[in-house]
Amino acid sequence: MSNPRYFFAGLFHETHSFISEKTGLEDFAQAGFGSNEPISLPGSPMAAATEVIRRSGAEIFEGPYFAAMPSGVVCHSVFDTWKSRFEAAWKSMNGDCEGIFLVFHGAMVTDKEVDLECAAAKWIRQLPGAEEIPISCVLDLHGNISKSFCQQVNALVAYQKNPHTDATEAACSAANLLLSSSQSGRNLRCIWRGTDVVWPPSGTGTADQPMLTLESCARALEEQDGVATASVFAGYSYSDTPDTGVSLVLTVDGDMIEARAEAALDELQSLAHRYRDAGIPEADSTQDLLSALRSGQSSPIIVAEASDNIGAGAPGDCTGLLRTFIDLNLNNAGVIMNDPLSVAQLEKHSYGQTVVLSIGGRGWEGDPGPIEHEVEYVSRFDGKFTLDDPRSHLASMAGVVIDMGQCALVRIKGITILLTSKKTPPFDLGQWRVAGIDPKTFAVIGVKAAVGHRQAYDPIASVQFTFDTLGPCRLDLRSLPFKHIRRPIFPLDG
Ligand SMILES: [Zn+2]
Repeated sequence: MSNPRYFFAGLFHETHSFISEKTGLEDFAQAGFGSNEPISLPGSPMAAATEVIRRSGAEIFEGPYFAAMPSGVVCHSVFDTWKSRFEAAWKSMNGDCEGIFLVFHGAMVTDKEVDLECAAAKWIRQLPGAEEIPISCVLDLHGNISKSFCQQVNALVAYQKNPHTDATEAACSAANLLLSSSQSGRNLRCIWRGTDVVWPPSGTGTADQPMLTLESCARALEEQDGVATASVFAGYSYSDTPDTGVSLVLTVDGDMIEARAEAALDELQSLAHRYRDAGIPEADSTQDLLSALRSGQSSPIIVAEASDNIGAGAPGDCTGLLRTFIDLNLNNAGVIMNDPLSVAQLEKHSYGQTVVLSIGGRGWEGDPGPIEHEVEYVSRFDGKFTLDDPRSHLASMAGVVIDMGQCALVRIKGITILLTSKKTPPFDLGQWRVAGIDPKTFAVIGVKAAVGHRQAYDPIASVQFTFDTLGPCRLDLRSLPFKHIRRPIFPLDG
């Protein structure tokens, strides 16, 4: 008898609906069937899941895996390409398949489809041989999950931590559920519950309320007979869909009594409602930063520019935070900006020269525009690096080898600016190390993130502030022109 075989595929994107720039096929890293890359990118959740299946003695059959950094709405042709690769791989398996494993984000939107994961799962279910077999998925904690998606799959596991340090563990749990449903005949299904709450990413860290309480309640529910996993999706507020916001999903044994599962969901839902205000953080001010500087700190002050959160789709070139640093004439401060134009422009100059650059301000129409300023050109380097911390939030998106493209270091008086050619969420200190800088020596560091940076920066920070500048990821969700989100919903409708 041949070894059991499992089909693996993935489609991973967190889509910001309010950014005008579209995300095309060229923005996606492609692996698995139809590409030259193996599906198990080192250090990624996909790699961890394939390892679980292989250790069980089963074989992996690789479908396509497309993943891109968070950005604007995805061209639907990306989904069409993915489907055609999936179908070709599926046909070559000749129906000999025990189950399907999927890596999704949960908040992907194309120009034709606001619930892409549901569309993908429904499409998979109509393939010959895929109608009845178990499907298990691992998803990002920021997924906007719909009831109809949950009805298509048997098991679903969300990351439990934000920053996402547990992405590989979540993938392993989902792979183990797939094995148990196909090999031990465990009949699993998903039960969904929506809420009337949406929080900005800054309100979804799992070290703080409301997620702290919701996750601990979910762990307690997993002790109940019949509950395989309890997933709390904090949701992704900048993706405009009917299901945007907090949702709750149980993966349960098929024979679990419906009323017991619903009672468990009642408990989570009422917590999300009760703690809703805690998910709406307030921004800090320049005065807060100045007071911290005056009080004297022995380690860096971290200023998170949450409105230009690269990990949530922002361009990473908004100028608000850097303008504030320049206005305050900060001494010994550092910030990373994405600016391929400036990196290219510096190429013809020598280190130590003074050059006039137009820095940033091109990626978001609400930004006041580039900062025209004289800078001292310090150095240039290849921005490829291996994560200092393999459990970094970044590994959940891109594995452990990260490429920021060609990079340059420049200075405006006491402010060091690391310019990248590929926008890279500031979730790992290796970004500074590859530039020859120890970030612990800065007095102030600006990071374009909301929560994902904290795994890397908390250990070196004296104090942290959140700034809400003019970027696409504003803290006040009422400033966004939502069209599809269900109403009424907190905080849009009070
Ligand atoms: Zn996330």
